[in-house]
Amino acid sequence: MAMQWKDKLKDCKIIFVVGGPGSGKGTQCEKVVHKYGYTHLSTGDLLRAEVSSGSERGKHFQNIMEAGGLVPLETILEMLKDAMIAKADVSKGFLIDGYPREVKQGEEFEKRIKPPTLLLYIDAGKETMIKRLLGRGLTSGRSDDNEETIAKRLDTYYQATEPVINYYQPKGIIRKINAEGTVDEVFAQVCAALDALK
Ligand code: ADP
Ligand code: MG
Repeated sequence: MAMQWKDKLKDCKIIFVVGGPGSGKGTQCEKVVHKYGYTHLSTGDLLRAEVSSGSERGKHFQNIMEAGGLVPLETILEMLKDAMIAKADVSKGFLIDGYPREVKQGEEFEKRIKPPTLLLYIDAGKETMIKRLLGRGLTSGRSDDNEETIAKRLDTYYQATEPVINYYQPKGIIRKINAEGTVDEVFAQVCAALDALK
């Protein structure tokens, strides 16, 4: 019998990368991919790819993202699961960037896929995040990198995502990364957390 997708993911490390918008999740994940060869899955990038496709579903996502809100859990989880299955044979680990955005998303991922090995908490202050997002907005072409949407995204982050940290705290898998420094300073902390896994 063909191996089931869950078996294929059995030995994979699952690393949740959680932090506010503009905290530097994508920047750090890219560096981790180069050094450790993990597979990077950004829920934001997956959604933006759907928007670019011009589908009806994509238009719906775009409206939600421009309002700074969260796309429904079922949609995100299915997208993530499909992307993971597609890479399960060749991947030793997954960086799940921008997920879970709320506690419920974390609970459902655990139930339906598997529990995370580690949670990297990319922690930057509000002023730093705003500054970086406005900087990114100059070249990103992202329609949510404008002042009004940034304010809403930050509200969503503090209301919905910060509780995720409290939820995982007692499980002992959180490594808090001070994301105020330079890219390399932050990466040194990320490497220390990942190296401790082996
Ligand atoms: P996220 O994926 O968490 O939204 P990004 O990785 O896209 O954040 O980073 C947002 C912006 O901040 C980008 O323009 C990026 O170049 C910049 N940036 C990321 N990390 C740092 C850092 N440590 N110092 C300065 N700028 C950073
Ligand atoms: Mg990102």
